[in-house]
Amino acid sequence: MCSELATSKEHTPPKCFFPEDKYIGKENTQRIDLITVPSCDLHNGQKSGDDEYLLYLFTMSERANGYGKANFHTKVIKAAKRRPKLSEHIFSNESEIDGNVGYQIDRERIDRTIGQISRAIFHHETGLKWFPPVHVNSTIFEVPEEQDGIKLDRKAIISPRWEFVTKTMGLLKDKKWLGSNPKTFKYKFLYENNEFLLMHFMFYDNIDFQIISHPETWNLDFGV
Ligand SMILES: [Zn+2]
Repeated sequence: MCSELATSKEHTPPKCFFPEDKYIGKENTQRIDLITVPSCDLHNGQKSGDDEYLLYLFTMSERANGYGKANFHTKVIKAAKRRPKLSEHIFSNESEIDGNVGYQIDRERIDRTIGQISRAIFHHETGLKWFPPVHVNSTIFEVPEEQDGIKLDRKAIISPRWEFVTKTMGLLKDKKWLGSNPKTFKYKFLYENNEFLLMHFMFYDNIDFQIISHPETWNLDFGV
């Protein structure tokens, strides 16, 4: 993330994503060889709210597997009681998409947090730092038919995303999934010619993210 000296070790993804043994049984443990990376005070301290935001979103998603749901029923509901403002914020702005309940999300915050995890995983894999902007995409991002009184062309917004996702998957097809607790988090990783970085993240079996960084993308909007 930066050039400051590391003062601590930080879990990536955050430890709170991995359910505790007491809720899922020791035989199903999701805390094997958790990945840590060196961190400075600033970057370790400032992101706990972002981590919590992502934890809420992922574990309340219909897509999350039993490990995600276990986390929701233990950690998230407790935290929501402690900090009702955050959950109010997340559960507001409900809208219906294809007969399902959707929530307006803080896309910038999600991209920033996933971007940080991708830089940490890059360091874990290579021992190096990745400074150029990364672009984050996911199939969890849906588009309502109408927003702020404007009718949206869903197809026009979603189809380039699918094209991008399909391309990413194609390039990573022969790569193995990595990660010691794949039911909570697994990833694929491609790094070429010191300038091309491609990753696929999967949380709780079904919540996917594609991360790309390439000189051609560095000047595009929405990089983090
Ligand atoms: Zn830092």
